[in-house]
Amino acid sequence: MPETALDRFLRYVRIETTSKDNAEQVPSTPGQLEFGALLAGELRALGAAEVAQDEHGYVTATIPDPRPAAEQAARPIPVMGWIAHLDTAPDTSGKNVNPKLIDYQGGPIRLESGAEISESEGLRSCIGDMIVVTDGTTLLGADDKSGVAAIMTAADRLLNGSVEGVPYRHGKIRIAFTPDEEVGRGAEFFDVEKFGADFAYTVDGELPGEINKETFSAEQLRLKVTGVDIHPGTAKGVMVNASRALAGLAAALPAGRAPESTEGREPYIHLCSIAGDVGSAEAHIILRAFTDEDMSENRRILDKLIARQKEAVPGSVWTAEYKKQYPNMAEGLKDCPLILTRLEEAVRRAGAEPVWKPIRGGTDGSCLTEKGLPTPNIFTGGNNFHAVTEWLSVNKMEAAVRTLLNLASLFAGEESI
Ligand SMILES: [Zn+2]
Repeated sequence: MPETALDRFLRYVRIETTSKDNAEQVPSTPGQLEFGALLAGELRALGAAEVAQDEHGYVTATIPDPRPAAEQAARPIPVMGWIAHLDTAPDTSGKNVNPKLIDYQGGPIRLESGAEISESEGLRSCIGDMIVVTDGTTLLGADDKSGVAAIMTAADRLLNGSVEGVPYRHGKIRIAFTPDEEVGRGAEFFDVEKFGADFAYTVDGELPGEINKETFSAEQLRLKVTGVDIHPGTAKGVMVNASRALAGLAAALPAGRAPESTEGREPYIHLCSIAGDVGSAEAHIILRAFTDEDMSENRRILDKLIARQKEAVPGSVWTAEYKKQYPNMAEGLKDCPLILTRLEEAVRRAGAEPVWKPIRGGTDGSCLTEKGLPTPNIFTGGNNFHAVTEWLSVNKMEAAVRTLLNLASLFAGEESI
């Protein structure tokens, strides 16, 4: 019996691959190397070609085009990439994940720890499915081990399966498992040229048939204020309190433009952290928007507040360092309509209704698309990512496997993209 996507998933979540913010090296944690080495071994055992794991932990492999060379030359099929990430989010522990299987019949789900998964619309759409949850003390790791399991299972089917004795028809497929996606570094050392695909799909989304061709554009602002510290007893006219100056700016950030009060395509400005003393203070702020206009407006709001605080606290010295993090991938995908329409068709054939949903976040695909590898995103069947209430519908993960197989056969009928 070949291993199912569920068998693989349950094995993979037991490996701790939590990534770490602000690490010097990629991968940020050794568990990702261990997981990657396991996958490389499994890919070799399945019969994949060109299996490699590089020093940054990227695992790549090839499912060769099974057709005779002459036919391949006469009728080339574009090379497709399948990508998922090895790490899990640092927000919640990914150590000793203890997955539980539930035959889901509706209602909220009470976890062993007492935490509860409320009955969302997404959960209701999975009544009758087999669902995997945690014991409520860790995240599950469906983000993105369900994506990894779906790709491994689809690869197994293409390499070792057949339809009534006839091997699957498909072009060359490249696989990549990437480190440190959750800390925004998944594409940093991704060698697009060496990968050699014409386009790719990440399998890193949530519920079927959610597919994504649009993400936020992301920037961050590192804000530093320098003041003047002196004994408070003799401070009159001398002390410049950097923390008070910066706190004034934090308090003036528009509440209506915060993550907690925005949704859909609305932009936000998010104060991630603030720290300091009298002499100096620092804030880390992130800016998110789907359009250039909204991003410019984010920056204009912040610049105006900084100017105002500078004036309000004479003697305070401000440095504002903006840095681009990732771009909205919609821009890079608009010239490749077939990559999107084929995906819609593949999802439909997998039994789900495709819905394009803008991601209020980024994926590896955002940066890869910018690097010249057009990469929209496919659902995994998971939900409530990064939290102890994370869950996965096994049935929907299987729909992700079918979507990948459908893509392989749809593109096998195409001469070019
Ligand atoms: Zn993810």
